[in-house]
This record gives sequence, C-alpha cells and structure tokens, in this order.
Amino acid sequence: MTTGTETRRFEAEVAQVLHLVTHSLYSHKEIFLRELISNASDACDKLRFESLADPSLAAEDSELRIEVSWDPDARTVSVRDNGIGMSRDEVIANIGTVASSGTRRYLEALSGEQKNDARLIGQFGVGFYSAFVVADRVTVLSRRAGSDEGVKWESDGKGEYTLDDAADLARGTTVILHLKADEDEFLRPWTLRQTIRKYSDHVAFPIRVPKDKDGKPEDGEFETINAASALWARPKSEITEDEYQGFYKSLGHDFNDALTWTHNRVEGSQSFTTLLYLPSQPPFDLAMGGRDERKGLKLYIKRVFIMDAADELLPNYLRFVRGVVDADDLPLNVSREILQQNRQLEKIRAACVKRVLDLIEKLARDDADKFTTFWKAFGNTLKEGIVEDSANRERIAKLLRFASTKGEGAAQVVSLDDYIGRMQVGQDVIWAITADSHTAAAGSPQLEVLKARDIEVLLLSDRIDEWMLGNLTEYAGKKIQSAAKGELPLDEAGKQKQEEASKQAAPLVERIKALLGERVGDVRVSARLTDSPSCLALADFDMAPHLARLLREAGHEMPSAKPTLEINPGHRLVQRLEGEGDDAKAGDLAALLLEQAEITAGAQLEDPASFVRRMNRVLLG
Ligand code: ADP
Ligand code: MG
Repeated sequence: MTTGTETRRFEAEVAQVLHLVTHSLYSHKEIFLRELISNASDACDKLRFESLADPSLAAEDSELRIEVSWDPDARTVSVRDNGIGMSRDEVIANIGTVASSGTRRYLEALSGEQKNDARLIGQFGVGFYSAFVVADRVTVLSRRAGSDEGVKWESDGKGEYTLDDAADLARGTTVILHLKADEDEFLRPWTLRQTIRKYSDHVAFPIRVPKDKDGKPEDGEFETINAASALWARPKSEITEDEYQGFYKSLGHDFNDALTWTHNRVEGSQSFTTLLYLPSQPPFDLAMGGRDERKGLKLYIKRVFIMDAADELLPNYLRFVRGVVDADDLPLNVSREILQQNRQLEKIRAACVKRVLDLIEKLARDDADKFTTFWKAFGNTLKEGIVEDSANRERIAKLLRFASTKGEGAAQVVSLDDYIGRMQVGQDVIWAITADSHTAAAGSPQLEVLKARDIEVLLLSDRIDEWMLGNLTEYAGKKIQSAAKGELPLDEAGKQKQEEASKQAAPLVERIKALLGERVGDVRVSARLTDSPSCLALADFDMAPHLARLLREAGHEMPSAKPTLEINPGHRLVQRLEGEGDDAKAGDLAALLLEQAEITAGAQLEDPASFVRRMNRVLLG
C-alpha cells in the first residue's frame, strides 16, 4: 500500500463533472451542505451495518453523529462524521474517479439548461464535488474503521489532488471547505443552521453544531439541531406535511415536492412499516429508460439501513416510487441473494404493490389534477404493469387513461370504465387503434365505419401501446379489439350488405389482386371504410405496421408479412379503377390504393420514388 505524499490527476471525467457542477449549481449553492451531510449519514449507516458483523468497528465511539462547524478567521466550514471512513485507496476510488455509471450517464444527459442540470446532479450522485461550488480548496481527512492509518486528501478542484498520511485522526471523515472569497454567508451561524434544518432535518443521525456562536468546535459544546429520528417510525398523526415533504427530498434526490405518499404500519406475524412516495415528475434516469440502477427505495431492518432495494421491493413498472421499507423480522445479515428468495420479503413486496396501487387509485378518485400530473409523468411506465404484473392487470387497467374519438383531443383522459359507461346498446367490444402519433391514430381510415355508427374508439399512440394492447385483450368482461385487425363484427343487416357488396365487387377485387400480384396477400371489400378508398387490414396477431417499422429501424429483423388490402367500392377512385380500360393506368391506381393504405398505417414505403412517379402520372391524367 502506498504511503507518504503523492500528487495525482483527477480522471478526465471528474474534471468535467467538477466544471459542470460548479457552474450548474450556481443558483443552489447551499446544496453542498445537503450533499456532504448525506454522505456523512451514509457513512454512519455503513458503519452501523458493518458493525453488525464486527462490533469492534464501532467500539471506540459508538454514538454515531455528524458535526458541522465553522471558523470565521480561517474562513472554513467543516462537516465531520464518525462513520465508516475511507482508506487511501478508497479515497482515490471514491473521489478521484467517477465511480458510478450513473455519473457517466449524467454527463451524457446534461442539457446545458441550468435549472434542469442542477436538478439532475443530486440524482446522479456527484454530490461530493458540490463542495467546490463554494470552496476554492477542499481538504478531506479520513480514517477507516478498523484501521490505524489516516489519510489527507486535498484539492483546488482544478485537475489535481494531493494525498498524504495523516496521524491521530479519529474514526470517520472530516471535510473542510476553504470558502471562496465571496461566500461569507456560509460563515453566518444562522444561515448554516437554517440550511441544515431545511435539507437535513430527517437525517436519522444527530447533526450537531457548536452552541458557541462563532462556530469553532474547540470553543464549546455542541447541540443537536435536527429531529434525528427515523420519520417513518413515528406515528402518522404526529408528522406534519412539511416533515413528510422534507423527508422525501432527503430521500429522493428531488428538489420538488412529492405528489403524494402513503405511510403504513403492518403488525402481526410479520411487522413492517412502509412509507412510499409518488414524485411529481419523472426522475431523469427513468426518462432515460434506465432500468439497470434503480434507486430510491431503501430497505431498513429495525431502523438499520440495509441497502437500496428497489428491485427487491417493487416490480419494475413501479420504479418511480421512492421511499422506505422498514422490516422488523428479517435477519440483519441479509444479503441481496438471500433477499431475492426470501418468503417474508415476497409478502412485503406484495404489500408495497398494493399500497402503491391503492394510492394511485385514491388519486384517481379524489384528486383529478394530481392524477393528471401523475399520469403524464408515469402513465407510460405504469402501462408496463399490464404485461409485467398479470395478477394486478385488472386493477392497473382501471387506472389507464386514453385519448378517444369522444375525448378531448390528444389528452389522455378516458378510462375504460368511462368507455364502457357510454357504450352503445348491443355493443360488446371496446374498440381501440394504435398508431405512431395521435393525429395518425385519429385519422386512421379503419375508424370510419365505427365513427359513422357513432361508436367510440380509443386512440393509442405511445410506443408501448401496441405491446400493452397485445396483453390487454379484455376488461370487465368486454373484449378489447383493434379496429385495424380481424373482421369487424357486423349485425345481421350489416353482414348482408357486406356480402352483397363483396359479390358485386368480386371481379374488381380479382383484377386488383392480379394487378398488385406479389405485393399483397389478399384483397377484399372493406366493412371499415366510408370516406377513404382503401386501408390495410391486419390479422389478429399481426404486428401494427408502424411498430414493425420502428423495430426494423432499431435493427431488428422483422418478417415482412404480405398485407391484406381492403377497398371501398363506393369510393370514386376505386370506381375509376373499375372503369379503367388501360391496364397500365389501372396498375398505377391499384398501386396507389395500396401505398396510401400503407402510409396511413405508418408503414414504410418500399420504393418512395416509384410512388411519387406513379402519383404524378395519375395527377396529370
Ligand atoms: P454518492 O454519495 O452518490 O455515492 P458522492 O459524490 O456524494 O456520491 O460521494 C462519492 C463517494 O465518496 C461515496 O459513495 C463514498 O464512498 C465516498 N464518501 C464521500 N463522503 C464520505 C464520508 N463522509 N465518509 C465515507 N465515505 C465518503
Ligand atoms: Mg453523496
């Protein structure tokens, strides 16, 4: 192991993070305190956890705490903890490099917009570097629990740092900020105390500041200024809304208030407490589709922090939930592997899912505005539950909201229950259509007959919808069917009309089939169309053309099934084709019927140039 003095360069990414952090946190300078205190609290959590297996680690000083002090003469602010501490190698690994892939993603995700970037910083765990927002030099003194060797790290945040041995350190870590010239406000006791309270009141360890007003630790006694209790362990009736929100912010790395929460205690053969929050906007990693590192749901056992266990405690489609689960009866030495097959945990997980769904239902019932906010932020994530959580499929389906031909434009406001409530007499199918935009869905020719009969159709245009709908074939005993697929179920009169029309148009259909040849699987008379000349019809299990296109663009091999073309013999273009004696001209018309059907279905034209030439020939007569 290396000892003595050495100078090292930050990893290139660190330099970049440092630069960005100091610039984008400009309007939230005081965040550094929250970040350093949160690191100190993590360090105390870690010590408590490790000392379960090895009590000697905490023996010398078992009362875990965090101390913030300041020195107006030296112009320093210090944050000290008696937690786990760091060895020299750990200092290098943890604060000399960008260790987490989250931070790398953060770098890629930066928008250049200050407010947004600042919000991201907490989420991506680049917390320590926020010290350089207010300090032009930072010193870290640390000694790891169980070791005698101390280390001193120092840097001006400009590309290099130095390491040195440090003797006589107490266990844990002290971070000393040498304030920049214009940051004197952080030397004011009142400002410091207020800021600590604001951001860190819910840290579960005592945060202490010197009683003495000039802040030097050696000058006097300390006093504890936070509640220092596990908020979730207190009775609900004693917790204020502000306290809940404050705790949320300390948990979720979110500057914004939570949308709502649910706090419950289960007593019985197995006792546990859950405090679960819905954020009011998606955290960045969710927006990125980041499924690998799920954070924000912490598992405690009898108030000892065990681990971030979002994966173990909630299914993926509820990954936006933040909060705490505190179990009384799990073994303290539990590992992630054990957790994954633990029967008790299965029960807790089921309870968490139930609580969250209850909470969302309550929003839907009692608070339309908040539910709308929720749906906009997380509706698409929740939809995954239709596929992922078949046991709760009906409950989740009840929460879904759609745009519809009888809704409010593109707004997703219609529930399946709304739809069923206004179904027509004799209608037993819920109609839906998917496309890659709302406009495309609303304009689908396949809807024409349904519209003409005043039958409502749900208009789905999110990427996940086609996949979801494939797994949601029924709701409340009603079949859910795509208006673009299969045969339209017609009443007796409709059937007869359809048969007659088909018989009459049989020669025309044969002619078009011959003209299009290999390009189509089948041609038939449509029961769907009133205004458009043609559309594609899919078999029940065919993939929607717009989705096939997306998948193909994403590099997947998609079998290209030949489409079935439906025509509307009442349309003038089709009639023109019928009367066209010239086979070349008829061929152009037939191809255009197919191509416009493909375009409206969101499929990709195989040969756009030929399409344009054909269209121009027809236009010029
Ligand atoms: P994060 O807390 O999200 O991991 P930070 O930048 O805040 O990111 O901290 C980086 C790492 O440095 C931490 O993960 C931890 O390993 C180490 N660290 C920071 N502060 C302390 C401390 N007070 N005690 C022990 N380790 C610390
Ligand atoms: Mg941190």
